Amino acid sequence: MLDKILIANRGEIALRIQRACRELGIKTVAVYSQADRDLKHVLLADESVCIGPAQANHSYLSMGAIISAAEVTQADAIHPGYGFLSENADFAESVERSGFVFIGPRPETIRMMGGKTTAKAEMAAAGVPCVPGSEGVLPDDDATCTRLADEVGYPVLIKAVSGGGGRGMYVVRTPDELVSSIHMARNEAQSAFGDGSVFLEKYLEAPRHIEFQVLADEQGHAIHLGERDCSMQRRNQKVVEEAPAPGITDEQRARIGALCVAACERIGYRGAGTLEFLYEDGNFYFIEMNTRIQVEHPVTEMITGVDLIKKQIEIAAGRPLGLTQDDIEIRGHAIECRINAEDPRKFIPSPGTVTTYHAPGGLGVRMDSHVYSGYKVPPHYDSMIGKLICHGETRDIAIERSRSALSELVIEGIKTNTPLHQQILRDPTFRSGKHNIHYLQHLIDHWVEG
Ligand code: ADP
Repeated sequence: MLDKILIANRGEIALRIQRACRELGIKTVAVYSQADRDLKHVLLADESVCIGPAQANHSYLSMGAIISAAEVTQADAIHPGYGFLSENADFAESVERSGFVFIGPRPETIRMMGGKTTAKAEMAAAGVPCVPGSEGVLPDDDATCTRLADEVGYPVLIKAVSGGGGRGMYVVRTPDELVSSIHMARNEAQSAFGDGSVFLEKYLEAPRHIEFQVLADEQGHAIHLGERDCSMQRRNQKVVEEAPAPGITDEQRARIGALCVAACERIGYRGAGTLEFLYEDGNFYFIEMNTRIQVEHPVTEMITGVDLIKKQIEIAAGRPLGLTQDDIEIRGHAIECRINAEDPRKFIPSPGTVTTYHAPGGLGVRMDSHVYSGYKVPPHYDSMIGKLICHGETRDIAIERSRSALSELVIEGIKTNTPLHQQILRDPTFRSGKHNIHYLQHLIDHWVEG
């Protein structure tokens, strides 16, 4: 087994990884920026190393600083968490070349899945249904692009091959907007991702976002752990996630899950991963694969009882999965609310000192957060400061439990989006499970105090 793991991340996920390490008897190294000396996991780590200034470019995104910290502390492995360097194939490669274990897939897999067109091609070859579109990058030839869009049928979506975070996407409704939209998308993709290549997809008008969790070991054995519904999004950022997805049948889960497993086995996947789909009119369409642990992984843990972070670590240590598909049983329902330090109406970040913090508790209530009374939320990073995850025998129980837990949550000194969560949880459309990816914006636009 691994003896010491360096956690190349911050905030709640760093604490989550640290907890898993402790349970496995593995020592931890925390790395932190100058703005993050007081992070909870830094205070609890066996060792900690400051890797640079507050700006992520010079700390959490600095491959050299992180690898040096692993060398100095003689760590065996590096866990990248999510965001930052977690899907950077060059980083995974440097980690391995420097003699450390990268807790994630092979660098080649990360590279292949990081390109949305190569990912789609691989998935299509494994029989996974994909959104119809240009098979590959759009050429620099307007006539061909116009023909491709006509074939797919309007509306179409122009997407950056190397895109992320929902940026660099343009919806095109009529042929006369096509060429100018492609140019805008190319420019935006070039400046945001350093890669101006774009592709084209059928734009689905009102889909739900449903994703499948997979685990695969070095020995070539893969399983799926069912799906999550992440349709409650604002500007392509997930706000509430749940598992299982409302209305998805056992037959659909088994069928799409089996295709995901086949795809993992085909590409020699290793570790935890997520295949994201859009779901409309009973059909699934693959959009991308995330080759890392995701923010919303706890809802899957709550309904399956599988500790996904521990599994990532065990797989990285070369152990077989130790689970077959038949071992995965879905029990009850889980909902996650992402707690952000932001104004609940204007969505402006609200960093500062948390004067009072009190986490909710009770049966089926889990709070994954690094916040404590007196903790100062720095302005330099993502505004998510915690996740409230509630589990219940049914979706209705999970919703009521979430409402009750949210009303117990006390975070004073900064603004948070808990009023938005209360609004979502009492909303009839959300409660009926009929919302799609556009519904949250509609709800925000028609906010009723109460
Ligand atoms: P990113 O890597 O930037 O997150 P994704 O491909 O995962 O990009 O897409 C992000 C979000 O954009 C999806 O969750 C969905 O809400 C929307 N989206 C992506 N592709 C389509 C499509 N073909 N039709 C409609 N909406 C889409």
